[in-house]
Amino acid sequence: MSLIVQKFGGSSVANAERVFNVADIVTSKYKEGNDLIVVVSAQGDTTDDLIAKAKEINPDASKREMDMLLTAGEQMSASLLAMAIEKLGFPVVSLLGWQAGFVTSSAYGNARIKRVVPDRIRKELDKKNIVVVTGFQGLNRYDDMTTLGRGGSDTSAVAIAAVMHADLCQIYTDVEGVFTADPRKVPGAKKLSTISYDEMLELATLGAQVLNNRSVEMAKKYNIELEVLSSLSRVPGTIVKEETKVEKMLISGVAKDENIARISIIGVPDKPGLAFKIFSKLSAKNINVDIILQSVGRNGTKDISFTVGQDNLKAAIEMLNPYAESLGASSVVYDENVAKVSIVGAGMESHPGVAAEMFEAMFEANINIQMISTSEIKISVLIAAEDADKAVTAVHNKFFAEAMKA
Ligand code: ADP
Ligand code: ASP
Ligand code: MG
Repeated sequence: MSLIVQKFGGSSVANAERVFNVADIVTSKYKEGNDLIVVVSAQGDTTDDLIAKAKEINPDASKREMDMLLTAGEQMSASLLAMAIEKLGFPVVSLLGWQAGFVTSSAYGNARIKRVVPDRIRKELDKKNIVVVTGFQGLNRYDDMTTLGRGGSDTSAVAIAAVMHADLCQIYTDVEGVFTADPRKVPGAKKLSTISYDEMLELATLGAQVLNNRSVEMAKKYNIELEVLSSLSRVPGTIVKEETKVEKMLISGVAKDENIARISIIGVPDKPGLAFKIFSKLSAKNINVDIILQSVGRNGTKDISFTVGQDNLKAAIEMLNPYAESLGASSVVYDENVAKVSIVGAGMESHPGVAAEMFEAMFEANINIQMISTSEIKISVLIAAEDADKAVTAVHNKFFAEAMKA
């Protein structure tokens, strides 16, 4: 007998037929004698629809009220799935995040799981119930419900798997696993049979939404092996685990992030301490900065450019306009029409020339590179947003042409 955690994303529970399909997957494992904890997301586009409803009433609604609203999406799908399982004749109970013991930080809209106290889950499992838990939510120290940030149900599932020492943690979604690029956008993208935590973490952070990056971080920390697979076609998925040396692939995937903006501070006096001042000020406002580029000083001034998430753009510009002036800079400009395209692969550490190959793909597709950033296992380029899809395909073809023929 094993303890299995299964997580089903929004499209897997989008309508009654899909809910019964999930009930089938869950109960077939239960019938084999396993304990089942099932984490669900809101049905289909429910979360987006709820956000749109809120905007109609109050575009500046407080984050607390937004969380009060958004947590309802998962409450609906959890109860509906429990009803389907009941109908199939199996014992089941659905629990909200707080009932399942999720304690989070107080940051509404983007809370972090601090701990899970699974007493109730244990009691229900002892009673032989299948336990359905709402993903994406918990309770903070003010006894308010919080949400974990978009895509947060993955993290809920991994957290339960860690606390309960589950034997298996399966993330069911609408594609058959983790691919070398988004299979909906890139024809010829290949399913990976395994991928390391580090590579998956980079891919997720750089825009591959198939797993939430915090869930991968947590899986790595607690050494929880994840299987990403489709709830619709019952074929083996992708295993996310600690890497084994033999499997070090040169490149494991290509990712794209369009939720990004470039800010440039022009004419900054070319003297020590200014980069420090600017970036400390941004960090004090909790604004994450990604790629940074500073020009060589000329005529006593230099330009500093960097990227931020689009959701932070307004706050960054409001802060920087007066601040840059006070530092003696001439202006602050920004561009939202940019995208970041990245390649990830543990093998590139020991293979010089990977960057050149990526840049060659961009050149052949006639795409201009605005900024570049690299680390041991990734290379990212910032380009015009309109070139993003073309760039992903060009880069993917460059590195996976052989695999695509296979
Ligand atoms: P869920 O609702 O199940 O959480 P998501 O929409 O969050 O599903 O994530 C699945 C989607 O991620 C897929 O439909 C796919 O379009 C997208 N995706 C982006 N990059 C990749 C990738 N490298 N491999 C697989 N899917 C990817
Ligand atoms: N329903 C939430 C969202 O749409 C959480 C999730 O799907 O994981 O972001
Ligand atoms: Mg998701």
